[in-house]
Amino acid sequence: MAHIRVRFAPSPTGPLHIGGLRTALYNYLFARQAGGTFILRIEDTDQSRYISGAEQYIIESLSWAGIEPDEGPGVGGDYGPYRQSERKNLYQKYAEQLIVSGHAYYAFDTPEELAARRAQNPAFKYDSSVRLQMRNSLTLAAEEVAQLIELGKPYVVRLKVPRNELIAFRDRVRGEVQFHSEELDDKVLLKSDGMPTYHLANVVDDYLMKITHVIRGEEWLPSTGHHVLLYRAFGWTPQMPEFAHLPLILKPNGKGKLSKRDGQKLGIPVFPLAWKDAKEIFEGFREFGFLPEAVVNFLAFLGWNPGTEQEVYTLEELYQLFSLDKVSKGGARFDFDKAKWFNQQHIMRLDGYALAQRVRPWIAQHGVTPDESYLAAVCELLKSRVTLLSDFWTQGAYFFTPVTQYDEAAIRKRWKPERRPIIEDFIRYLSQLTTWDAATIEQAIHAYVQAKGLKFGEVLPFVRLALAGTLKGPGVNEMMALLGKETVLQRLQEGLDRFDQIVSATATS
Ligand code: GLU
Repeated sequence: MAHIRVRFAPSPTGPLHIGGLRTALYNYLFARQAGGTFILRIEDTDQSRYISGAEQYIIESLSWAGIEPDEGPGVGGDYGPYRQSERKNLYQKYAEQLIVSGHAYYAFDTPEELAARRAQNPAFKYDSSVRLQMRNSLTLAAEEVAQLIELGKPYVVRLKVPRNELIAFRDRVRGEVQFHSEELDDKVLLKSDGMPTYHLANVVDDYLMKITHVIRGEEWLPSTGHHVLLYRAFGWTPQMPEFAHLPLILKPNGKGKLSKRDGQKLGIPVFPLAWKDAKEIFEGFREFGFLPEAVVNFLAFLGWNPGTEQEVYTLEELYQLFSLDKVSKGGARFDFDKAKWFNQQHIMRLDGYALAQRVRPWIAQHGVTPDESYLAAVCELLKSRVTLLSDFWTQGAYFFTPVTQYDEAAIRKRWKPERRPIIEDFIRYLSQLTTWDAATIEQAIHAYVQAKGLKFGEVLPFVRLALAGTLKGPGVNEMMALLGKETVLQRLQEGLDRFDQIVSATATS
């Protein structure tokens, strides 16, 4: 088997959609598994749709996800340049080669003439049934063609789709796919500005870059008939890559393709990273608090699964398992709850120190810079309770700053001012502890409650509310151990006064 070379070939027409990232991922997994090469090629020949910043966004998104190209812009490689705009002089020669061999022709029809045709017949297609009625090098005399070109009249080069040809190929996902040449129009290959269209540039570059497998979204399946014809016309059929067309990613309700609008409407991310256009900001998975490894795992399962029970995998584990033959044909429903589940699973897989690195920026946003071991311990303690990286702050801010918000409803329900002497005594008792770790604290509380004939419910809810402001959270002993004796005693003392105030405010209101 030849060395496997695959490419991800996005057009920088906007931010990379999550479906695009999945295409990149499947290419990457396929390449890594085979010890092959993963190439990034920027298809930027359509100047009218070019969006500045989009290429950088694509590169950053891949890098965030850990899907690093082996060859590409900024990386280099033996088959560059990897930006089609930097290769533009090369395509013309291939278009001319097809004209000489009779597989393509010059077409001089003006935009107005074509528009008139379409006005007459909205289903108008420039194809083998009409090409002989049009103004092109098949209908005009050779001298006239030469003269028009000489005069600088605008022209395009079109593919001369053969009549009555069956175009069949095996798609790794879809199986046997067939087109009849009668269904295909005479696609423009070279535009009047001298730039190639997607079809020409894509096929020429796949050939020149020795691509062995084209793995891309299902929306490109209809173009593949033309691509196969181009390989035939160039005489490159032996080098034609294998095709694999990936299923669509569907809206959460399963109805239709997931769009960027759905993201805004449903408050879910559909881009890996934030993207800002003239009108709005789209938050990405990163800004929602996702770990890249969770997003990668989630995306890997949108359209593929290894056929086993296990679902949580690292990128390395995924590429050991990945197989194009297990990619599904049907659309894959985007299930945001499932994405969150993957995130939670991946958070659980990281140890406190690894998590601390990921969580630090989220904490720093609030002006807090805890030391490494403390942050790692908090992360370890909270990790089984959180879903998103942002939750470490929203659920654990009290580990880093004084409690600013108390669950007043819980306090009104639980706090009885007549318990003050009990708590005051408990605070004195705690202050005498000389060892301060979770096990010692647990034992001490047990002993205290028993000796005083109290119920845990008379002490512990108060402690939680005073330390964290809420009844939710990790084990109270661990929480106390981490916060440290001084902070604990101080917050308990403050709690007494605050809770009395809260309760009496309710009583008088
Ligand atoms: N430039 C195309 C895109 O934007 C590439 C499709 C392909 O992979 O052939 O998706």
